[in-house]
Parts: sequence; C-alpha cells; structure tokens
Amino acid sequence: MSWKIEHPCPQCGAPVELEETDRIFTCEFCRNRLYISPRETFQFFLAKEQPGPELYFLPYWRFKGMAFSCDELQVTGKIVDSNILAMTLPHAPPSLGLRPQVLKLRYASPEVPGRFIKPEHLLAPATACGCSSCAAGHMPALFVGEIKSLIYSPVSVRGDWLFDAILDRPMCQLNDGALEGPKTDEDLRVEDQISFFATLCPQCGFDLEGEKNSLVLLCRHCGSLWQARNSGFENVPCDFIATRGRGDEADMYLPFWSISADVSGLPIGSHAELVRLANLPQLAQAAWENEAPHFATPAFKVHPSLFLRLTRMMTFLRNNPVRSSEPPKPPLYPVSLPLNEALESLRPFLASIAHPKKSVLPHLLDMAFSLKDARLVYLPFTLRGEELIQQEIGMSVQKAALSWGKLI
Ligand SMILES: [Zn+2]
Ligand SMILES: [Zn+2]
Repeated sequence: MSWKIEHPCPQCGAPVELEETDRIFTCEFCRNRLYISPRETFQFFLAKEQPGPELYFLPYWRFKGMAFSCDELQVTGKIVDSNILAMTLPHAPPSLGLRPQVLKLRYASPEVPGRFIKPEHLLAPATACGCSSCAAGHMPALFVGEIKSLIYSPVSVRGDWLFDAILDRPMCQLNDGALEGPKTDEDLRVEDQISFFATLCPQCGFDLEGEKNSLVLLCRHCGSLWQARNSGFENVPCDFIATRGRGDEADMYLPFWSISADVSGLPIGSHAELVRLANLPQLAQAAWENEAPHFATPAFKVHPSLFLRLTRMMTFLRNNPVRSSEPPKPPLYPVSLPLNEALESLRPFLASIAHPKKSVLPHLLDMAFSLKDARLVYLPFTLRGEELIQQEIGMSVQKAALSWGKLI
C-alpha cells in the first residue's frame, strides 16, 4: 500500500499530493515538473491540524520490501509492509497500524511545532518481518528492502497521561520523565531528505520522459537514460533488445538489470561455476570459465516468487539476442527497483538456484558482491489477452502481476 504525502510546490507553494513512490513532482498550478531525489531516510510526520503546546512526536520505523526465507528445500518470499515503535516506551502502541494509509504525511521539518524524539533503536527488518523463524533467530530472512523511513506520530502530555494528539484520546500512562530521557531531534531539515531538480537531459537539454514512479528517465532526443545521483542525473548504460520483426511490433519493453559481479564468500569464481552451482552443466560454455558471474534481475517490482523465476530465466539465458542502443517507440515500463536492491536480491537468488542448498546456506549472510559492470536491458513484449509474451526466450508475465507490483 502506498502512502500519500503532502508537500508544497518549491516554485509556487501550492500544496501537491504525492505517492510515496513518486519520483516526478508535477504542480497543477504552475505546471512545474521536477525530479524528486531522496537523500537519506525520509522522515514524515502525521499532521495535526491545530498543534497545541507540549506536543511530542514518537518515532516509528517503516519498512516495506521483499523478505526471503531459505531452508534446505526451498526459498520462499513474501512482501513485508509494517511499522514499529523506534523507542522504548512501555504501553505505547508498538505499531501505527493502518493509520498512515488514512492520514496524510508531511516531511518533518524544524518549523513544525513540537519535539521530534530521535529513534533509540536501529531499524531491524527481522523485527518488522514478524515471522517465527526470524523471531527465533534460526535462519534469518533475507531482505530486499525498498523503503525504509521514519514516521513521527504526535502525542501530548496531560498530567501523567500520554494522549494521542490526533484522536485526542488517552493512550497510556506515562512514567516520570519517560519523554525527557530520549533525545529530541532539533535539526530535521527537509533539504537533507529530498532535493528537487529539473527533468531535463544533461546531455542535450530536452525534456526527459518517464512515468511518475520511474527511477530512470529517457531522453528521446539523444536516446540516453538517466537516474538520480546526489543532486543531478547520471547516465545509465543500456541496451534495447531487438524484436525479430520491427521493434514497433512490441507493445511494451520491460527493464532488467544486467549485472556482472565478483562473488566473495562462495566458491563461484566464474559464470561457468554459477551454472554448475545451479546444476545446469549442459548450459556451461567454455568462454564462461573466464568470465565473472553475470546475472539479470527484473528492474521492476513483482511478487518475490515471480522475481526469482524471472531472474533465473534471464541469468541463464542461452541465446544472445540482437541489441541496439536506439530507444524503441513502444512504451518503456518504469524502473522501480534500484540497482543496489537488485544486487541485494542476488543472495536469495543464489540460494534458490543452488543444488544442493546445503552448500550455500551457511554462507548466505557473509557473501558479498563487488560490481564489475551493470546496465539496463529492455526486452520487448507483446500483449496477448492478459499476458505479456516474450517469444524469443519463451517468457510470459501476467499483466495483473505487473499491476500488483505497482502497489508494492
Ligand atoms: Zn507550483
Ligand atoms: Zn538528451
């Protein structure tokens, strides 16, 4: 479930409502169009219309992402979407529940009256996950986390009671000084959380195009792709796979991260060894003995089990389709999974392909990937009924799976 954030337009000040995953900010009043680049952790607060005195904001960590649990038989994935209190305050609600879906969020800033309490605990996704195997500490789940943020919820102190400042209802009894111990954050600045910049191609100055949630934007004029880095755009190397016929025959191009990386912590020194790990020796080609392992993961969000299936198909692709650097006319599906998360997903992927899994499980947590090369590869798909089909490699993705992925 995506949350709604309200933020004034940096140019005209009109209130603009954003989805949590939006990267393009469009003001309906002044037609300003900007790219939103998150800097660090987003810090939001639940707004109270009439802030009173003695207002405190309790910190809650919010985590949303894929969680994979691995055992000797299989790797299973699920979506985790939860929030937990980030401080010790007996009897306070341990979670905000569904409340942030109902109320609007705003970026926390020093102008907001009240005291923001700094989180005392680091975000521990294992706690957010809530599954029994994580809780028991047997085989902790692997997280491919996409969203980590802090949400502050307002409370007020009346006598020795803490009141929920939004509902104006008593929440819990307050021990003496319980809110005096924790440090408050005096210097929350919106500028540290987000920056805005024009959606113009750094190479030729043309307007960049892309859906509002896309992490990568396209310049049709010079055929280049761009992603945010610090306060500007950096070029993303990419290839477009050609269709057998004309490129225009495709209905949609889906993006994949093509990654070449050295793997440490596991005896996988070459791509051929990766193929043997998956027990597919018939695929191994002589040239792969000297190549770093290469992988290809979806660059968009889908259910974890489909994500692993597509990664497997793309990583062990046998044929080498024709590539072009010219962007095709059909729409490019938005990139919603950043490269660093794609790298993180290689851990559960390796566990999912390994035969036997015993050889990999003990190393899951200490394996590391050092990136040698990464680029986006766009594959053409044609729409048949409710399915998108990639004929050359025999891949199909349900339209519903993509729509569902947009909600993650
Ligand atoms: Zn505006
Ligand atoms: Zn350009």
